[in-house]
Amino acid sequence: RAKAAGKGGLDFFTPDLGREAQERLSLEQRLRDAVSAGEFCCALQRKVDIRSGATTGFEALARWVDAEGVMRMPGQFLPLASRLQLLDDIALQVVDDLTRNLPQLDAMFGTAIKYSINVSPAQAIDTDFMRRLTQRLPSGQAQRFIVELTEESLADTGLLEAHVLPMLRQAGVHVSIDDFGTGYSSLSKLASLTVDELKIDRSLVQTIQQLPRNQLILRAIESLGTALGLSIVAEGIETEQERDFLLANTAITMGQGFLFHKPQLIATLVGETPSMPSPAPDRLEWA
Ligand code: C2E
Ligand code: MG
Ligand code: MG
Ligand code: MG
Repeated sequence: RAKAAGKGGLDFFTPDLGREAQERLSLEQRLRDAVSAGEFCCALQRKVDIRSGATTGFEALARWVDAEGVMRMPGQFLPLASRLQLLDDIALQVVDDLTRNLPQLDAMFGTAIKYSINVSPAQAIDTDFMRRLTQRLPSGQAQRFIVELTEESLADTGLLEAHVLPMLRQAGVHVSIDDFGTGYSSLSKLASLTVDELKIDRSLVQTIQQLPRNQLILRAIESLGTALGLSIVAEGIETEQERDFLLANTAITMGQGFLFHKPQLIATLVGETPSMPSPAPDRLEWA
């Protein structure tokens, strides 16, 4: 198109590129400032028994709420944060928000509730980071926490089994494999790991009714997971039909999804602030 526009094409595109680069620079600076200012916090989404809807746990999800009260989602800042090596600081801010509010949450939901924490693939194999994270959990309560590693973290299962998983087991922290069935799936890798839970990705959950093939894949994952003694959780259940289909066609009893609960900031959940901050406008989808 630039060529077709002739000489003017360049004039048209050059300032644009300049602005884009400038915008990125200022976004980098904003992200760094946000980390320094401690603007990252924790939203929670319920994990439920899909038969009754009873809450069995919560998953901690990172949110960036800036000074103006604008909230940004992980997809809007995690990739850049990862490139800028800010993920560890962000993760610790999220965990601190969770543990600071734990007494209040326990008063509301009881102490049988477990809390899941997400870590990036790089963090998953970083024994020092994982130890720091574990040490941040309230003493004597590590067994109430589950660390979610994504399937991508399983590239080096030997490393995980040699260092990180024994450390977590020793501390009493549980381990879950998140987003399973998204494409990097390896059933043999799963079989070689000592973990506690398997979360089946919503892309699989949301297509089982339309794609019989995905139903077979889900059944295979379920039967291996069950044989390995893992808890199986279905992610991204949005409709009653999806829930009913799972109940009728699988033995899965644990799930998460908008049908049951949309993630809420902890501050909102414990009644500290009356409502959610406004979502960021689309143009800030710069990750
Ligand atoms: P995830 O761990 O698989 O978390 C589930 C994501 O799916 C969340 O998005 C949640 O809001 C969304 N979700 C839950 N139920 C439904 C549903 O029924 N339908 C749909 N369409 N979506 C649903 P969120 O909060 O935007 O997080 C996205 C991803 O970012 C997470 O996926 C996780 O991989 C990552 N993430 C979030 N917080 C952290 C964190 O503190 N550290 C790291 N390293 N990664 C994080
Ligand atoms: Mg997760
Ligand atoms: Mg997940
Ligand atoms: Mg997922």
